[in-house]
Amino acid sequence: MPSTAEGRTAVLAIAGSDCGGGAGIAMDLKVLSARHVHGLCAIAAVTAQTNAWVRAIHVVPAAQLAAQLQAAFDAWPVAAIKIGMLGSVANARAVARFLVRQRAVHIVLDPVLAASSGRRLQGADAWRVLRDELLPLATLVTPNLPEARHLLGMDRGDPRRALASLRESGCGAVLLKGGHGTGRRVTDILLDAHGRVEYVHQRLPWGARGTGCALSSAIAAGLARGLDLRAAVADAQTFLQAALANAFACADGTTRILSTTA
Ligand code: PLP
Repeated sequence: MPSTAEGRTAVLAIAGSDCGGGAGIAMDLKVLSARHVHGLCAIAAVTAQTNAWVRAIHVVPAAQLAAQLQAAFDAWPVAAIKIGMLGSVANARAVARFLVRQRAVHIVLDPVLAASSGRRLQGADAWRVLRDELLPLATLVTPNLPEARHLLGMDRGDPRRALASLRESGCGAVLLKGGHGTGRRVTDILLDAHGRVEYVHQRLPWGARGTGCALSSAIAAGLARGLDLRAAVADAQTFLQAALANAFACADGTTRILSTTA
């Protein structure tokens, strides 16, 4: 396990920023710190949003994103990478090229489609590059139900039945998150080289921003600390359940912010 002189392992989060601090890079860095690794960040897009709407998205130019990636790798032995919102075709390609060149390992891809308020955060063209060039590099891809449908090109239907074909598209493993489903229980399904594992939780009576960001970052932290994939996913599930149970209310009272210090 690569570590710094002080013994801290470093994880790089490549993602967008959410000025509300509930999702994106702010949540990633909070989670990485809570999971005992040093968080590095490469910001791909800057969003202006609340829980209710996204007002503006500034996509960082690909050259600037590539410079951040290079600086992070120059400065630290990067033990794992989490990828969230990238915002453009150019950024998705720059990340794919960079990771191939670095022969990066332990890549957790959260294929972000939309903000919790509903607005699309990445266009169809960026999404295609993500699916065709980044997904095959990923150790694990962590779609929710709408994102899985999108990756599979399904208009409707249940992506749980097509999990194997998602994994066959080249990633090491898929963690399909069930939070967007219905019912009193939420089931996340992991499909890896050894088979299938289900994580079942009681559905909480409140929603929280950034759950996908937090889960993928916590898994990356576990991989960086030397856990195998199943142990890293189980560890991250436990962490997210505590963060959800202790989530605190936003000023607007409509949703909650995950608590990473509980
Ligand atoms: N990345 C950014 C910058 C966001 O603003 C959001 C949601 O608003 C997300 C990612 C996705 O968040 P989640 O973890 O809820 O999928």
